[in-house]
Amino acid sequence: AQEALRQSQKMEAMGSLTGGVAHDFNNLLTPIIGSLDMLVRKGVGTERERRLIDGALQSAERAKTLVQRLLAFARRQPLQPTAVDVARLVDGMAGLIGSTLGPTIDVRVDLAADLPPASADLNQLEMALLNLAVNARDAMPNGGTLTICARRESVEGRHPAKLKPGHYILLCVADTGVGMDHETLARAVEPFFSTKGIGRGTGLGLSMVHGLAAQLGGGLTIDSAPGRGTKIELWLPCSAAVVGEDEIAAPARVTHAN
Ligand code: ADP
Repeated sequence: AQEALRQSQKMEAMGSLTGGVAHDFNNLLTPIIGSLDMLVRKGVGTERERRLIDGALQSAERAKTLVQRLLAFARRQPLQPTAVDVARLVDGMAGLIGSTLGPTIDVRVDLAADLPPASADLNQLEMALLNLAVNARDAMPNGGTLTICARRESVEGRHPAKLKPGHYILLCVADTGVGMDHETLARAVEPFFSTKGIGRGTGLGLSMVHGLAAQLGGGLTIDSAPGRGTKIELWLPCSAAVVGEDEIAAPARVTHAN
């Protein structure tokens, strides 16, 4: 609990700090991009100079994308948990995910029948799923398979991810990509930890997904090894509004994800 508190305070401080810096950067980048864009359109200078200007414009545009992601992170809306049909959400996003990942990645969806609703925030869960899918894409530069599955799980007693006993919807996103080494795995959910290099990664994706799961009363587990791919499991509590205690007849099972 102490660690979770420390992490969330760090997130909050980072959020307001980056919000301010990102905002200023965004304002500064606008005239830079505008001027470079004008030069590119006019086609001024020698061919070599035009290539240099073009490169500068591309970098500035990448910086702008990065800054906008930071801004979106800093401006996160407060959570609005409602009863979310996870199967429907995944089905609805499969097309978008498929086109985001491109033709070299095979997207498979495996949804348990009769999934009860999860207590979650629809928009933020969509963002989270997209984030996980984009991470999976980055981990599979030569193509591979992304599997999204959702099923119901019960937790009894102690759980490795410190989940409270109860009923959950387990949403997992697994890839056949490069996987994570020990250090990356240990630091993956840390805000601003990224191995992707400047302008490519913000290091906020997994920390956002982790924060979301934690705020909803669930959790996140990661199973990954170099060369073997990565499986991210998002545990979302079943919506209390729908799941009565007596409704669950199946024997409870604990999954040790790590
Ligand atoms: P970002 O994607 O911007 O780097 P994240 O917080 O989403 O930030 O991820 C942090 C780091 O965790 C990544 O830089 C990468 O090293 C590692 N990572 C995340 N997802 C995967 C994955 N599916 N496969 C391999 N490594 C991953």
